[in-house]
Amino acid sequence: MRIEILLGPPGAGKGTMAAYLSRCAGLSVFVTGDVLRQAISSGSELGQRVKVDVEQGRLVDDETILNLVKKFLTEHSEGVIFDGFPRTLRQAEDLRAILDPADELRVIHLDTSAETVVARLSARRMCPQCGRIYNLRFKPPLTDELCDECNTRLIQRKDDTEVVIKERYRIYLKETAPLVGYFADVLMKVDGNAPADVVFRELKEELCPG
Ligand SMILES: [Zn+2]
Repeated sequence: MRIEILLGPPGAGKGTMAAYLSRCAGLSVFVTGDVLRQAISSGSELGQRVKVDVEQGRLVDDETILNLVKKFLTEHSEGVIFDGFPRTLRQAEDLRAILDPADELRVIHLDTSAETVVARLSARRMCPQCGRIYNLRFKPPLTDELCDECNTRLIQRKDDTEVVIKERYRIYLKETAPLVGYFADVLMKVDGNAPADVVFRELKEELCPG
């Protein structure tokens, strides 16, 4: 089966690309956070363990995540795009250990600078009233910093400030960036600093030809 992994820092555009590519390539998207939430709401034994971890603010352990990955792979034999997994070298090794030698594995490195990520994410604004998300650079409201829907003044979420974004980038460099070397044999490098439509065109040619 086809396995595509999107690798890049928060703000690299992994979620956007995963959504586009799943449609044109007919693959299912594994988003770690979504899969954890689904496991919890399913009420399964695995889900109950995840629930305890999440409620107590612990990181869900690698073994549990790997079990969820295995289950997802079994249920989506058409092929999978990973967004947010593997996050560490250990998780990457775990994944490779469960793949079949016949699986077609490719890792797409959305190589994106700290400057780009800060510029993108620090321009995000949210409406505290209706929850709509804007981006002052890419998807600005019609009226300066006011919500199009309900005319409420937009706010910046605490996660989207420069200090927090830089800290998350630093953690990415330390924990996840080593995967670029680990997956060198199956790596496709893309300039993640380019606009989303340019990145998508480049990926589409490779992943969804014809
Ligand atoms: Zn609003």
